[in-house]
Amino acid sequence: MLTISMSRRNLLTSAAVAAAVAAGFGLDQKLAFVSAAHAETPLEPTTGFYKYKVGSIEVTAVYDGIWRKPHDPTFIKNASVEETKAALANAGLTTDFMPIPLTVIVLKIGDKHVMVDAGSGVGQWQANATHLPANMQAAGIDRSQISTILVSHFHPDHVWGLMEKGTNAAVFPNAELIVNGAEYKWWTEPGRVEKLAEGRRAAGRRIADVFPTWKNWKLVEDNAEVAPGVRILSAVGHTPGHSAFLVTSGKDQLMVSNDTMYVPALLAPHPEWEGVYDQDGPEAVATRGKLIDRVIADKMMICGAHFPFPGAGVFAKDGNAYTFTPVVQS
Ligand SMILES: [Zn+2]
Repeated sequence: MLTISMSRRNLLTSAAVAAAVAAGFGLDQKLAFVSAAHAETPLEPTTGFYKYKVGSIEVTAVYDGIWRKPHDPTFIKNASVEETKAALANAGLTTDFMPIPLTVIVLKIGDKHVMVDAGSGVGQWQANATHLPANMQAAGIDRSQISTILVSHFHPDHVWGLMEKGTNAAVFPNAELIVNGAEYKWWTEPGRVEKLAEGRRAAGRRIADVFPTWKNWKLVEDNAEVAPGVRILSAVGHTPGHSAFLVTSGKDQLMVSNDTMYVPALLAPHPEWEGVYDQDGPEAVATRGKLIDRVIADKMMICGAHFPFPGAGVFAKDGNAYTFTPVVQS
């Protein structure tokens, strides 16, 4: 059973879109509209995995965990902590801290298991993000079945799951690791580590030392077909080679947006906000607008790595901004 949660403000603008998208995805059509006045969006899922369909492709959303990030005035470059708290409250989220959950998806295409990003490596990113392996098992997916990993970008929460803690041994030595060549080259080019901000150097050093020693990378260009029915789409700004993935099966499409729209509670009403982790803020803002406009025009469902679990929903236009209607577990 799938419920789409709506705040009162966006109820009218996106109810029709949500219903149309839900019907298209074979979701329960008796949608329950939960007003923000009645329910705070839960932070931790009741069950750590969630399955839905895109045409004949089965999507399994697998919960890794959450970063309860203390409020920090630098988190959004052009907004105050008070403004970010107000945005969280409007979305029915806690304002005690900045909630940054992490969800990984696995696509079952025919008998092939394709994972998008590798999670944060069992506590290597945040102490509360350790759940991916157990939740994947619970969803009936053995990690040895993963034949392809589509990598959106090289930030720790997306790639530390490729490496064992301590030894840096490959967790998926037999899977094909597909990434936009621009992302790979930027992080591994000679002299890169020294050019990074000091706080990023340890992560950059780990990437530069370990990734080039692996033989299972496949570097691709924008718009390449990276799995049956899946195309890589350049979505730069967050990082120089950050990518989204467009999943198509029959008439259904899912935009796997990764970190383009990382916390929709903030960026749907304020798409112009620049996050501290957006390496090129203005470029990230432009990419965000383009991607969300496309998702709305084509009436697609969208998922994101840091959306509330199970990490999917729909957007609608709201003046110069957007409303976001998340899918919620029930
Ligand atoms: Zn991220």
